[in-house]
Amino acid sequence: MIRFDDVSVRYEGAAAGPALTGVDLTVPEGELCLLVGPSGVGKSTLLGTVSGLVPHFTGGTLRGRVTVAGRDTRTHRPRELADVVGTVGQDPLAHFVTDTVEDELAYGMESLGLAPAVMRRRVEETLDLLGLAALRDRPIATLSGGQQQRVAIGSVLTPHPRVLVLDEPTSALDPAAAEEVLAVLQRLVHDLGTTVLMAEHRLERVVHYADQVILLPAPGAAPVTGGPAEIMAV
Ligand code: ADP
Ligand code: ADP
Repeated sequence: MIRFDDVSVRYEGAAAGPALTGVDLTVPEGELCLLVGPSGVGKSTLLGTVSGLVPHFTGGTLRGRVTVAGRDTRTHRPRELADVVGTVGQDPLAHFVTDTVEDELAYGMESLGLAPAVMRRRVEETLDLLGLAALRDRPIATLSGGQQQRVAIGSVLTPHPRVLVLDEPTSALDPAAAEEVLAVLQRLVHDLGTTVLMAEHRLERVVHYADQVILLPAPGAAPVTGGPAEIMAV
């Protein structure tokens, strides 16, 4: 579902050298794949190449090729990838563009040209899926961190992306809220067959949710992939 062919990324003027060097990877369809490694190793950069943020919004030079469901992320703008890949960052508040939960879920579909009835149905499905139905009319600013992160996930789910990319989605959450978010992700993978790629630096917290783990051991080093038990042993 996600494929990296010899991918390198270099930011202009970065003294530290390339952020990624010669990465080859595949993430199979319908798996929850965890991306781990120390801070600064290139996790956000790798996720950005999948969502199209790198190089379109961050600057930097991308060599090689990243495809998601067969679409080259460099030749599509992130907006043109909304029905293929949904992206959620660490800070849900940075993500929101509308006031209420329901409006936010609808917003992500606006550029897709869907019929209003289809959009309404998708909002209902997503409210149910994420356990947000009772909060639909609430201003997002009044929700807890875990609820906000679920709204952020919901807003990128309504275009029905095949891939969901998350950059440390639980980093600002307490353990109970983090568990809620992880349970939602697991449900997406199992019930809808969504492919999830999630960066996380606290391996122990999330490793038991993963089908596959990608470890970036050091800047510029090749990724190591394996099952949770194999990676825990590295
Ligand atoms: P991680 O997510 O693992 O912490 P990043 O992908 O954020 O790693 O960063 C990898 C390297 O690229 C770091 O040295 C970082 O300083 C550098 N970097 C990240 N984004 C940019 C940018 N927009 N411009 C210049 N350098 C960047
Ligand atoms: P429609 O455009 O009529 O909603 P789709 O072919 O896009 O039909 O989706 C068919 C079904 O797949 C939906 O009814 C929904 O249950 C499920 N589905 C697929 N992907 C997602 C997703 N990302 N979020 C929620 N439901 C999804």
